[in-house]
Amino acid sequence: METILLLAHTETDGSLAKSVREALHAARTLNKAISGSNLFVGLVGESVQAAADSIAACPATKYFGVAGAEFSQSRYATDAAGAEAICKLAQATIVVAPATSRWNRVLTGVAQRLGGRADAHVTGVADAGGKPAINRWYYRQRMEATLARTQRPWFILVDPGSQPACECGAGTAKVETVAVNLPDACKRTSVLGVREPKADAQTIRPDAQLLFVTGAGWTKKQADGQTHVPEAETLILDFLKLTRASLGSSKSLVDLGGEGQAVLPFLSHLNQIGQTGSTPRHPKGLSTCCHGEEPHTVGWRFINDRRAISVDANCGWARGKADVLYVADVFKVMAKVNELLTATK
Ligand SMILES: Cc1cc2nc3c(=O)[nH]c(=O)nc-3n(C[C@H](O)[C@H](O)[C@H](O)COP(=O)(O)OP(=O)(O)OC[C@H]3O[C@@H](n4cnc5c(N)ncnc54)[C@H](O)[C@@H]3O)c2cc1C
Repeated sequence: METILLLAHTETDGSLAKSVREALHAARTLNKAISGSNLFVGLVGESVQAAADSIAACPATKYFGVAGAEFSQSRYATDAAGAEAICKLAQATIVVAPATSRWNRVLTGVAQRLGGRADAHVTGVADAGGKPAINRWYYRQRMEATLARTQRPWFILVDPGSQPACECGAGTAKVETVAVNLPDACKRTSVLGVREPKADAQTIRPDAQLLFVTGAGWTKKQADGQTHVPEAETLILDFLKLTRASLGSSKSLVDLGGEGQAVLPFLSHLNQIGQTGSTPRHPKGLSTCCHGEEPHTVGWRFINDRRAISVDANCGWARGKADVLYVADVFKVMAKVNELLTATK
């Protein structure tokens, strides 16, 4: 009989991130598909009761918690000890967890300690004839595979954004406290603080409705024979401020920045979308000044509604890669768009 454990860590304020509810959706899907399976929840954090209460209406029948000041920060040794203790007590055979940066670096190690196996970047769970199976993509999202494993425990790290979030309500959860023996050697690492860009400088927003992609055309010579980089910067940043869209880029544009050219300073390789960049998930995408070549558009695999603006009517977007292509000068289009957005604010 399978025992499915949703394993999550709390946020610093004691809440659960959206990615936890997405993993819970995957865990529930497996629970429904595998007859006779149990669904349990395991939580690690400074305090876990409020987090457990926030999802208490889900069909999980047991809650396990590892709580204490030692578990507030992301630290391999304490996180691994907490996760291992919960998995053992719950006798979990399938562990479903959100693929957060904190869990990604810990749970493969926990799988090793428990003699299990782990799969990362999972984008779906499926019922393979009453047996659990997972989906994940290979070769930069070009091929999708369905996998099953007989080894237990099986750790399944669910990619954030790949599942709908479970909408189960709150209640009162009875959390069984799990004791963890933490030798001093587990507490040698301390997190001194978090350095992050200012809210306005943070342009990568995984939860945004829109992905706004900038291509190399923004910095190229325009019809008047001149480049217009300062205007480009203002138009792009104004649009981001007005829409809170997430900012992506083509490789060509971020490479120019790395080569020391005076281009768009707020772009880094972290913004790069594509074969050697990221494959974000947003409901809509707007590509600007980008040619729509295959190594770039492969990163658009999970964008549902795709639009592009390019002066080139024969660009890659026109060849089936976009739902709508506006053949127009982006400087004019985005100036008008920003004007309309400002008027509606
Ligand atoms: C192994 C490999 C991996 C790669 N990985 C990636 C990757 O991960 N991501 C990626 O992006 N690329 C990747 N590439 C590079 C990719 O093939 C393209 O070279 C790159 O994406 C092109 O970028 P671009 O479209 O911004 O620039 P360009 O090809 O220079 O296109 C600029 C576009 O802007 C348009 N334009 C110019 N001015 C205006 C204006 N005023 N208004 C509207 N449009 C305008 C032009 O018509 C043109 O279509 C990879 C390549 C290889 C070989």
